[in-house]
Amino acid sequence: MARYTGAVCRLCRREGQKLFLKGDRCYTDKCAVDRRSFAPGQHGNARNRKLSEYGLQLREKQKARRYYGVLESQFSKYYEMAVSRKGVTGENLLSILESRLDNVIYRLGYAMSRPEARQLVQHGHFTVNGKKVNIPSYLVKPGEIISLKESSRSLDKLKAVLEANSSRVPPKWLDFDRNNLVARVVALPAREDIDLPIEEHLIVEYYSK
Ligand code: SF4
Repeated sequence: MARYTGAVCRLCRREGQKLFLKGDRCYTDKCAVDRRSFAPGQHGNARNRKLSEYGLQLREKQKARRYYGVLESQFSKYYEMAVSRKGVTGENLLSILESRLDNVIYRLGYAMSRPEARQLVQHGHFTVNGKKVNIPSYLVKPGEIISLKESSRSLDKLKAVLEANSSRVPPKWLDFDRNNLVARVVALPAREDIDLPIEEHLIVEYYSK
């Protein structure tokens, strides 16, 4: 599937906030949002730019899409899925996005960013219930077991990233056994488990027009 291949820092500058797409660099003073806190492009530096109601809804949808690295068509499929589930549509949508396997790998600390986690999944480093899954959009379900493949456990890079992220606490819907590198999905992620500054009601309004 086609992916965005442009400069990812532009995406953060477009949304006016850090989306943490570049790992370590995002935490340094090299971060483009910190250095140039205005949108990219010819009119990006325009002061007092007031967004319309539609503009606000659009930006919120784009922000969520970019946090999770999801293309437009897939995002609207997730929205349809969220509508068909019981409960609050906006919260269902975030729960679905959060359940993506690449996000799970990021949350467990195997990667410094979601794009990096996506690549690890594509390279087949993980299993779900003992079977290799290399599809980043795979949606995990309660009771499933996510493990680092035996043959990938000796990779120095993975070990170094896990070590660097050892203080990162996984969300409570994931039970992670760091010693054995096995995680169990305890439940579907609830809204309070998702720490991203997304106003999901704006996304629902965007699609409800
Ligand atoms: Fe976004 Fe990270 Fe680039 Fe900063 S360094 S603009 S947070 S991707």
